[in-house]
Amino acid sequence: MVKAIVGANWGDEGKGKITDMLAKESDIVVRFQGGANAGHTIINNYGKFALHTLPSGVFYDHTTSIIGNGVALNIPVLMKEIQSLLDRDVPMPKILISDRAQMVMPYHILLDEYEEARLAGKSFGSTKSGIAPFYSDKYAKIGFQVSELYDEEALKEKVERICLQKNVLMEHLYHKPLLNPEEIYNTLMEYKSMVAPYVCDTSLYLHNALKEGKTVLLEGQLGSLKDPDHGIYPMVTSSSTLAAYGAIGAGIPPYEIKEIITVVKAYSSAVGAGAFVSEIFGDEAEELRRRGGDGGEYGATTGRPRRVGWLDLVATKYGCRMQGTTDVAFTVLDVLGYLDEIPVCVGYEIDGEVTTDFPTTSQLEKAKPVLKVLPGWKCEIRGIKKYEDLPENCRKYVEFVEEQIGYPIRLISNGPGRDEIIYRGFEGKTE
Ligand code: GDP
Repeated sequence: MVKAIVGANWGDEGKGKITDMLAKESDIVVRFQGGANAGHTIINNYGKFALHTLPSGVFYDHTTSIIGNGVALNIPVLMKEIQSLLDRDVPMPKILISDRAQMVMPYHILLDEYEEARLAGKSFGSTKSGIAPFYSDKYAKIGFQVSELYDEEALKEKVERICLQKNVLMEHLYHKPLLNPEEIYNTLMEYKSMVAPYVCDTSLYLHNALKEGKTVLLEGQLGSLKDPDHGIYPMVTSSSTLAAYGAIGAGIPPYEIKEIITVVKAYSSAVGAGAFVSEIFGDEAEELRRRGGDGGEYGATTGRPRRVGWLDLVATKYGCRMQGTTDVAFTVLDVLGYLDEIPVCVGYEIDGEVTTDFPTTSQLEKAKPVLKVLPGWKCEIRGIKKYEDLPENCRKYVEFVEEQIGYPIRLISNGPGRDEIIYRGFEGKTE
């Protein structure tokens, strides 16, 4: 049985917490796309952690954590992350790395930085983790799979061949120092010794696990609107953020994915550039940003202040549809308790016409939000365990959202902690 946890919007929906919770009931947790460019924040008995590459299952001793073939694997970052857990007394997690995962090379990070600097004001707002150059190389067929570390002669030759090409860019486009193939080869040999204990055919491992009836959780990064095909291209990430890609990035059959839990935050936030129709500014934004998430809406990886806005139901309905949502997890609802009235975006006005269907990027740039204002509940809802015990206006907010997006909200998160969760008929749990 395979479940996926994915985001409906621009990322930072609070997937980390929901994954951490569901990982408890899973045998295996798999990262299937993305790299160390985004982060999940998890708060549990060991403390507060920002995970970038490791799956959220690493805190449980019964789960195996898999870095799938679809991931942009930054080996030194991964090793540091493992060490940071051990330093804080988390027992060594069981980790497997796909032999087909490709590696973020040191020059991917350099190229990302240089390109952002070259584009200056027109940049994509990259986190400079090398993700775009990494995936470009993967599809240009000049990337390096972990498996290639084991054929040293072929590896040496390939590194030289690729440095030749990259150095043209280094010299003539960026005017930066040239890459040294020998140094890169030596770095790769260090990477090899670092990953050696973890590398295996993870697709085969998952195949066998599924045959034995194990529960697998696919953990997505970012959200639907950052998908390179279905998102706000080109202000997207470089690997698919959709649950469907979980099959490819983990190496399992698509029909095995039975539950798709899409995480939606009770208001909007986004990092980086790109159209953001329900964005708010000034004091109103500053207050939401400061109160948002747990300790404010600032990037888990970069510390950058996030852009914030009201819940965008046009984007969310689309985001849930593209994921193939079976259940919605509605998060960070507690944060809205300070508002007298809560605006939500129920439509886009584009060239004088109102639509509730999410458009392509060029149309999106022109969209103006159509807002509906719902009454606030003006109280603290943390600590509440039962849906019926939520204030009436809070329930009305949830039910309005559910009706507009057309997917059932079965989990409500009313605080950052692991047990701050309200089930609404989720998996037979009605409490
Ligand atoms: P992810 O990338 O989707 O996992 O999102 P983040 O790691 O950025 O999580 C968003 C932030 O919200 C984190 O600081 C979480 O601890 C916090 N968080 C998650 N759920 C809730 C919630 O229900 N209420 C509050 N107040 N904070 C939450």
